[in-house]
Amino acid sequence: MTPIEATAARIASRIAGHPVSVSCEGVPRFRLTDGADALGLVHTLVDVDTGTYAATATVIELTSQVCGPLQRFAQAAQKPTRCLDSQRQTNVPCFLGTPVARGSGTPAVCWDTGCYSVVASRHSYWSAYSRYSLAILVLAHEAIHTQQAVVGRPRPGPELVETQADCSGMQWMRWVAEQLGASTNDAQTIANFFWRVQYPRAASVHTSRPYWSADCRPGGKLDIRSADATAWP
Ligand SMILES: [Zn+2]
Repeated sequence: MTPIEATAARIASRIAGHPVSVSCEGVPRFRLTDGADALGLVHTLVDVDTGTYAATATVIELTSQVCGPLQRFAQAAQKPTRCLDSQRQTNVPCFLGTPVARGSGTPAVCWDTGCYSVVASRHSYWSAYSRYSLAILVLAHEAIHTQQAVVGRPRPGPELVETQADCSGMQWMRWVAEQLGASTNDAQTIANFFWRVQYPRAASVHTSRPYWSADCRPGGKLDIRSADATAWP
């Protein structure tokens, strides 16, 4: 077991509520049609007569596209999601996340989901940032699948199994990033980035099991935060 597999297993076990191991040797051959996610896999066994899980899921397989960024993020003393604010001469979260109008003069980066204020505006930088954010989400998403798959429990319906994994996973991102060494405000920022930039894209992914849901919003059916929570996601 590599150090990142051990760290990821500890994180996933906490989310699952039971011991889970993580393998970073997942082969990138997963196809959505196989009942697997594109970047990770949890084998589950469902009793077809009762629709309940026949076994508790204890193994998560991740591809190198997930483990690579997770490992780099965990090892970095200076997290790659923080940038130098040259005016204040201090490191701050790179994604400020305030929606801005195109051409307003504020440093911003535009995605298909909108333009947001940022500290660093190089495009290559944001490709890397997206990979860190997605890797953290995928670990949390697969961990939610192991949380779902407890022997004897009903399997969520096809419209819920992935929307729940993605939305609950997103709400765990902040905690996962902190476990990998991110500061509190940076961890929140990484989750904000996923919510603003990456999550809306799931709406256009059409598979037999949807990933995006309108119920995934503050106060929505897929909001799993405690009643006193203020930050979203
Ligand atoms: Zn999934």
